[in-house]
Amino acid sequence: MLQYPAGQAPFLWRVEPAPGLHVAFTGVDAGNLAFHVSGTLAGEAARESTAAARHRLEDAMGVERGRTEYLSQVHSARVVPAQGRGWAGGRAPREADALVSATGCDPLAIMVADCLPVVLVSRPAGRDGITGPTAVAHAGRRGLLDGVLENTVHRLRQDGAGAGPGDIQAWIGPAICGRCYEVPEPMRADGAARIPATGSTTSWGTPALDLPAGADSVLTGLGVTVHHSGLCTLEDHSAYSHRREPGRGRSVGLVWQNQP
Ligand SMILES: [Zn+2]
Repeated sequence: MLQYPAGQAPFLWRVEPAPGLHVAFTGVDAGNLAFHVSGTLAGEAARESTAAARHRLEDAMGVERGRTEYLSQVHSARVVPAQGRGWAGGRAPREADALVSATGCDPLAIMVADCLPVVLVSRPAGRDGITGPTAVAHAGRRGLLDGVLENTVHRLRQDGAGAGPGDIQAWIGPAICGRCYEVPEPMRADGAARIPATGSTTSWGTPALDLPAGADSVLTGLGVTVHHSGLCTLEDHSAYSHRREPGRGRSVGLVWQNQP
């Protein structure tokens, strides 16, 4: 079993919404978890480093090595169902930006560095204590504006999630905040026209987008209960930030179940 060095913890935020059901978000201590980003390494060394980081994380989760499902993320609004096969089988991951486990049993991961990692859990209508389908979504500017969260919630309900208050809960993990995510004015105007809550201004007075606020407004509008980490990846160096250090690494948002 691989261990983290003393004083290092893989998770910046971890909750257990029901016994044995886990939602968590990694930081830099968990290492780079993406194969498409190489940090300071190159070639096979980069590949091996990411594989080791994924194995060590799965050891900490209590999940069999290689069983967590990952995607090839392309800033789309596309949702795909979990296949129960994990990342270690040598198959190319599917291109999509959200992943749904109909049974709620598949360990799921979504990679980010500034974009929003959104983890969702559900129950069948009003059935307290019963875990329904689960999901992870990558909500960057494009995916959020194009409807990746609406599509994910829709898919959860198709798979049996209830539509009442508290039947779906979402956790928005560490992401760039609305006071840091500077964009050109036309981009702010486009975002605010499509999701008004995204319109923002940086702490230095220039146009910005507030993606966590935009995601909150979309999810709340769909009847989802939302929880925020409140942690900004650009300001907090315990998280990877593409804007601060492009290509250094990717964190993940996770949902998994194991025996309580
Ligand atoms: Zn910030």
